[in-house]
Amino acid sequence: EQVNLIKLAEDITEEMQLLAKQNQHIVYQHTGSTAIVNIDPNLLKNSIINLISNAIKYSGENTFIEFNSEIQDEYCIITVKDNGIGIPEEEQKNLFEPFFRANNTGNIPGTGLGLNIVKRYVHLMNGEVSCISDPNKGTVFTLTFRL
Ligand code: ATP
Ligand code: MG
Repeated sequence: EQVNLIKLAEDITEEMQLLAKQNQHIVYQHTGSTAIVNIDPNLLKNSIINLISNAIKYSGENTFIEFNSEIQDEYCIITVKDNGIGIPEEEQKNLFEPFFRANNTGNIPGTGLGLNIVKRYVHLMNGEVSCISDPNKGTVFTLTFRL
């Protein structure tokens, strides 16, 4: 299915901005000469919503959440970056396991299923998901698809 990534992403941004905290701004930007991709829009939308929900939940007020898409050669790369609590280094390997919750979540609620679902969805789309996180600084999740 041919999907306009910019349209999909702008809709998600608008929807998720309503759920953001005081002065948390979700900023979306696309780079690339095209934005038309052949990726399941429902799986993609759900995956991105999960990542942005986490970015909102695990970062404070007055922060930016950067949501980017890029089409470069035969790859589509989507990133969600926050300036939140980050994930302790030694726990990062468990991120995508069902019911995993890091030990720095305090009283922030969650079931630990969101990222496991993202991983399953991304694999159904023949993509990859990865994470780079710096405790107390922030986190970037990257979805990569070969077009
Ligand atoms: P839910 O099932 O409602 O999504 P959850 O947010 O706890 O609950 P996941 O989305 O699977 O579960 O995330 C798993 C854990 O990974 C979180 O509990 C948190 O410890 C950590 N985590 C995920 N995203 C972030 C992020 N952006 N910043 C910091 N920690 C994160
Ligand atoms: Mg979550």
